[in-house]
Amino acid sequence: MANSKYEYVKQFEQMQNLLPNTYIVVRIDGKGFHKFTKFYEFEKPNDEQALKLMSFSACVVMETFSDIQIAYGQSDEFSFVLSKDSELYNRRSDKIATCICSTFTSVYALNFEKFMKKPLQFPCIPIFDARCVCYPDLQNIRDYMSWRQVDCHINNLYNTCFWGLVQKGMNKQEAEKTLSGTNAGDKNELLFTRLGKNYNNEPEIFKKGTTIIRQPMKEKVNLKVELDVDNKEQQKLNKKQKKKLKYKDLNQQELNQLPNQQKEDLQVQEFNVDIIKDNFWIENKDYILL
Ligand code: ATP
Ligand code: ATP
Ligand code: MG
Ligand code: MG
Ligand code: MG
Ligand code: MG
Ligand code: MG
Repeated sequence: MANSKYEYVKQFEQMQNLLPNTYIVVRIDGKGFHKFTKFYEFEKPNDEQALKLMSFSACVVMETFSDIQIAYGQSDEFSFVLSKDSELYNRRSDKIATCICSTFTSVYALNFEKFMKKPLQFPCIPIFDARCVCYPDLQNIRDYMSWRQVDCHINNLYNTCFWGLVQKGMNKQEAEKTLSGTNAGDKNELLFTRLGKNYNNEPEIFKKGTTIIRQPMKEKVNLKVELDVDNKEQQKLNKKQKKKLKYKDLNQQELNQLPNQQKEDLQVQEFNVDIIKDNFWIENKDYILL
């Protein structure tokens, strides 16, 4: 590369390399989604299709960046946890944040119409911000995820009450006033007595948000397909299926020992469960390679 007298400006760049040997959490959050969700008439308090579009986009992000071990999302946000030893972009903070964020944003925009049954309209376009935060140990990561899930629960309980009251004909100011100063117990009670709703029966995806991890593929392999070798597409498909077949019977320890490229045969999978208690972490300890 030829040197020019202008090149000194490059030295003004201040890139931050994230602390080595720490988990990197990248959290993205929708910009102005209060307005965005109003414009596209999202169902309130929870538009399920919109949540599915979020987690679909997050799954693609996980498939694109194999260093991400686990992701958690709720409302207009998603957090992605990279392994401690990740060398993604030499741990450059801006590269990691912007590439994950723009991958997510592109997939969200590309699939918006499919999920929401209406087209995006300029200038009301989806925009997400992103930040990277380093955490030194697993307990910090567990606490981080718990923090986001508690946030999900608190907001969802409030919003379920708020929009329930509004749907009953109360105006927004009245609903806000009714709820101010109430605790969780009061809100559960209000839902039950005034709105005929048992909070426990609300969909798990609303109450718990979405956690994504990688698990080995477990689908039934269609052996018949392997016999049809005429068609090129079919041959490609057969190759994939054979691969699945190859790993089908491995236990998790054996899967963990596979070279990285083969680990990509693990499949991202979504859960709407409690991630605060130990259960989820114990049940999936072999799949969460943190
Ligand atoms: P900022 O740019 O600061 O993040 P914001 O308007 O996006 O501002 P948030 O605190 O991120 O504020 O809140 C997200 C908003 O989007 C909330 O009002 C929430 O109710 C709404 N929202 C997000 N996802 C959904 C959904 N699936 N269905 C309905 N509303 C949603
Ligand atoms: P990195 O991820 O490190 O940025 P890169 O492959 O994107 O890697 P750049 O230094 O950013 O590398 O270079 C961008 C590349 O894209 C160059 O090869 C450039 O020629 C090509 N490119 C960018 N815009 C155009 C364009 N409009 N038409 C043709 N080629 C383009
Ligand atoms: Mg915000
Ligand atoms: Mg937001
Ligand atoms: Mg938010
Ligand atoms: Mg480039
Ligand atoms: Mg370039």
